[in-house]
Amino acid sequence: MNSADELPETVDLSNCDREPIHIPDAIQSHGCLLAYSTDELRLIGYSDNVTDWLESSPSFGEPLSSTFSDRFEAEVRNVLQGPKGIVRHVVCEPLPDAAWKMHSPPVAAVHAHDGRLLIELESPELRSPDVEILNSLPLRLNLANQRFQSTRTVEELYTTIADEVRDVSGYDRVMVYRFFEEGHGAVVGEAVGDRFERFLGLHYPATDIPQPARRLYLLNTVRSIADVEAEPVAIRCEAGSPPVDLSYSCFRAVSPIHVEYLKNMGVRASMSISIIDEAQLWGLIACHHYEPRTLSFQERAACEMLGLTAATYLTARERDHRNESLSQRRSKHASLMRDIAGAEHFNESLTEGSETLCNLVDADGVAICWRGGPILWGDTPEAAVVSEIAESYLKSNDGLSASESLVEDAGLESSLLNSSRGVLAVPLSAPDLRGLLFFRNEYLCEVHWAGNPEKAAEVREDGVRLSPRLSFEKWSEIVQDRSRQWSGVDLEVGEDIRGGMVELLGRRAAQLAKINAELTRLNDDLDSFAYAASHDLREPLRGLNHNVFLLNEEMAELPDDLKEVKQRCQSIGELSGRMDELVKGLLRLARAGRGDLELENLDLSTVVDDALIMIWESGQPDHIAVEIDDQTGPIKADYACLRELLSNLIANAAKYNDNEKVRITVRSHRDTNRRSEAGIPPVIIEVEDNGIGIASDHVDRIFQLFRRTHASDAYGGGTGAGLAIVKKIVQRHGGDIWVHSSPGAGSKFSMTLEASD
Ligand code: ADP
Repeated sequence: MNSADELPETVDLSNCDREPIHIPDAIQSHGCLLAYSTDELRLIGYSDNVTDWLESSPSFGEPLSSTFSDRFEAEVRNVLQGPKGIVRHVVCEPLPDAAWKMHSPPVAAVHAHDGRLLIELESPELRSPDVEILNSLPLRLNLANQRFQSTRTVEELYTTIADEVRDVSGYDRVMVYRFFEEGHGAVVGEAVGDRFERFLGLHYPATDIPQPARRLYLLNTVRSIADVEAEPVAIRCEAGSPPVDLSYSCFRAVSPIHVEYLKNMGVRASMSISIIDEAQLWGLIACHHYEPRTLSFQERAACEMLGLTAATYLTARERDHRNESLSQRRSKHASLMRDIAGAEHFNESLTEGSETLCNLVDADGVAICWRGGPILWGDTPEAAVVSEIAESYLKSNDGLSASESLVEDAGLESSLLNSSRGVLAVPLSAPDLRGLLFFRNEYLCEVHWAGNPEKAAEVREDGVRLSPRLSFEKWSEIVQDRSRQWSGVDLEVGEDIRGGMVELLGRRAAQLAKINAELTRLNDDLDSFAYAASHDLREPLRGLNHNVFLLNEEMAELPDDLKEVKQRCQSIGELSGRMDELVKGLLRLARAGRGDLELENLDLSTVVDDALIMIWESGQPDHIAVEIDDQTGPIKADYACLRELLSNLIANAAKYNDNEKVRITVRSHRDTNRRSEAGIPPVIIEVEDNGIGIASDHVDRIFQLFRRTHASDAYGGGTGAGLAIVKKIVQRHGGDIWVHSSPGAGSKFSMTLEASD
């Protein structure tokens, strides 16, 4: 495998992520390492260059005291008592002279880790500039502090940090490098000599700093490479002893991949200081030098202190900024929630609050996703696409989810999304409200990479090891199909919105339950009144009818000159008959609203057959054909109610029909576009005819009590109570009713029966 084109799928940049860089089995050549067991302080390993420091190679197993003084050993024992992983500088003198090659004793840094005590020795020559540094350090740090403090913007702070670190450390280039959430980073502040190219603003891919390195940056906050050209020195270990873990070491040899990376950049020596915020790697202060450069322990310590101070300023500044934005948004959120809570109509006030909601999370548009369909505000995709997004982003009850690229994450074509690209989903899972979807528009931005990040992978002969990038030539990329990232503050405010809405919805549900209970009571009262009134009225009416009938019979015998009286008597008879019809209609309506529903599984064709008998006791006329198309199986409903409902609709379908052949279809099917509260498609029942149809301006009125669209004697007469009864029955079953009709084209009455399962 010779070329990147032939990369197998399994080979990727995570190879670098698996490199065990904490156990390189070598150190950089400017230091010397001795490793002792922590329990007995016996030598278990040393760097190969130990004879540059001592007269002869020490032997494995020999005690610390054979190389170091008693005072040194006592200091070391102190280190062992203290917390692990802390590097302490210990004065080496006085040493047994014979063992050491150099005149003045070396400087030692000591730490314990992983069951080993590591002593790292540094040449005393490096000490010379220390005096100056150490003398001026307090003043230097104080000045840096003041300069950090006086910066007004965060950008100014980045540059000041770079300037100060460059001043103290003397590196050619110092960069403040910031990590982004996706892992890549950018140079946000820089101090560099005039003769060098500037890197400010350049982005570096996540793979440039692999995971093991990031892990080590959290443990060991300052790392330096004295000379990338210098050969590392191997560590020799006692037979059977595992390799020495150099996570905290000052001289840890650098991964060959990193050395090559630096060489490709033309860098000879480097140092980096970690910027850590709440145990997370915020970024680095990265220093490059184009000549070899070795820092003494003291110089490193000075840089580390400066880095720590800078990190404190940086993270504090960012936190202040974040807290300010959070508290501003929170107070706006609280006032919006108060407005909605105080409003008379929850749904309307929520819609009216759309713009404020968007401002709270810095979105360009919002979809309020009701179960019946979304209400959109601002820049959003079309309703159908929003519903599709809601399907995948609002189904979880777990909490918020966000995406910067619906194209990548939801696989949606950008042409379907209008200008939107990112979504922040706030699921609510209320019975009628699924949640809120906030949208962010596309954010086209040009990113300047230090070299093409795609070319980071190059497979070598062995086919596994990946080499670092060869080219750092500025490479610009236009980032498309993405929105700006949702920040931590956006997500936190999103959570607040969710909490606030859940509370409001809870309150609204309680209010609705109260109103419903009141309405039910009023309805019951009304039904009882209508029932009692119509029931009681029927008796005197029957008497009146009877008497009018007798009167008419007697009148027939009277002479013709009393014709007028006879006509009046006849008309009284007709009117009382009509009144009787109306009272009966009222009674039927009152009955439909009273009593408990007895829900049972009903077979549609059986109920239709019974309804037909109800309508045509003496047999269905030949010219009327009733077809049943049952696509759902049993329907859950109250038998008497369903029969009453069907008989009204079928009777109307036959009655309002001029055709020689009357065709009526009663159909049941499930509406897969809708969902009941139980999450299943509701049953739809349809009664369709080929009759005279209904003019569109009458459609709304026909369901009202005693509303007719024809003269009372046209089409066989009627009271106008039938459809009011039908509607009442449907509502009692928790459903809806609607009609599709036009004059001359027949009618189709459709209704849902939510009680079905
Ligand atoms: P009615 O007793 O008058 O039939 P309904 O309440 O059943 O009262 O119907 C109200 C009105 O709706 C009717 O007067 C009629 O004009 C119209 N209507 C009802 N069903 C149909 C239908 N299938 N075709 C045409 N018009 C209808």
